[in-house]
Amino acid sequence: MRKLVFGYSTRCNIKCEHCVASEDIPDCRKMDHNKAKELIVEMAQAGVGGISFSAGEPFLYFNEITDLVKLCKQIGIYTRIVTNSYWANTAESSESLVSELKENGLCQLRLSYSRWHQKNINRNNVLNAAHSCQKNGLNYFISFVTDFSLEDDPYEQFLRDQGLKFFPEPVIYAGRAASFKRRNILTDYQANYCDMNPYLTPDLDMYACCDAGSHFSGTNFFYLGNLTDNTMEQLFTKIETDRLYSFIRTMGITNIASFTGMKASEIITYSKCELCRKLFNSPETLTRLRAEVSQLAAWSR
Ligand code: SF4
Ligand code: SF4
Repeated sequence: MRKLVFGYSTRCNIKCEHCVASEDIPDCRKMDHNKAKELIVEMAQAGVGGISFSAGEPFLYFNEITDLVKLCKQIGIYTRIVTNSYWANTAESSESLVSELKENGLCQLRLSYSRWHQKNINRNNVLNAAHSCQKNGLNYFISFVTDFSLEDDPYEQFLRDQGLKFFPEPVIYAGRAASFKRRNILTDYQANYCDMNPYLTPDLDMYACCDAGSHFSGTNFFYLGNLTDNTMEQLFTKIETDRLYSFIRTMGITNIASFTGMKASEIITYSKCELCRKLFNSPETLTRLRAEVSQLAAWSR
């Protein structure tokens, strides 16, 4: 199924230290509302079955996002909103917004939570938002962003004590988090497959990856094009026919790294997105991989 992360606006009400938003990107870009509606209809025609409203803080444009959710519901697109829960500071305010979204067809709410978010947002907001979802029968989960340090244990314990549904999500060392001290991760030798969710910016630029992918400025490896010059169908076709993107999904980034000659003992010190950056944000490595893509296809350890 084709799916996409929809960046309606880059504006956020807080400034987390770990946010992948780069300092050099203006933080108040916003898509024209009518254009967004037009694009969503085009997406449905191009077979997009799921949209995640993310990027900045979508609840800052609550009425507009609700309108887009409603449109998605009418044309059969699954919807998710990613939020920092700033709006859920009382049970009543939370209840009112969550019930409105549910009535308009929202499928899932993803609540961001971490020791960085919670410097600005009281953790009880996340609790209120989760309870409202439970009460209104709206699917939700908490995205617990962590660097897996001991500092995060009490944050995880809070979620466990409250019986909330959560998934740990590794912090991505890009954007503001690029300056964080890199840890030697030392995992098992994992394949590191990646689904690669495409991302549409408010300026209608489209990238093949929504996370650190748009920050690969050394090569622009994930940049697909702008929707003023391309159709949605053309940009999705690019994602689906690029052989290196396909290998990221099916072969895994670890195998590609091994093909380039990286030793196993080095590979296991990288998280998935870091390894991806090391390979695909290096002009030399990327040129080599493009040139040797057929050998890569035939390669096995
Ligand atoms: S991580 Fe999310 S909540 Fe924090 S500044 Fe970035 S967009 Fe805003
Ligand atoms: S592994 Fe690469 S493609 Fe996947 S989310 Fe990270 S940067 Fe994007």
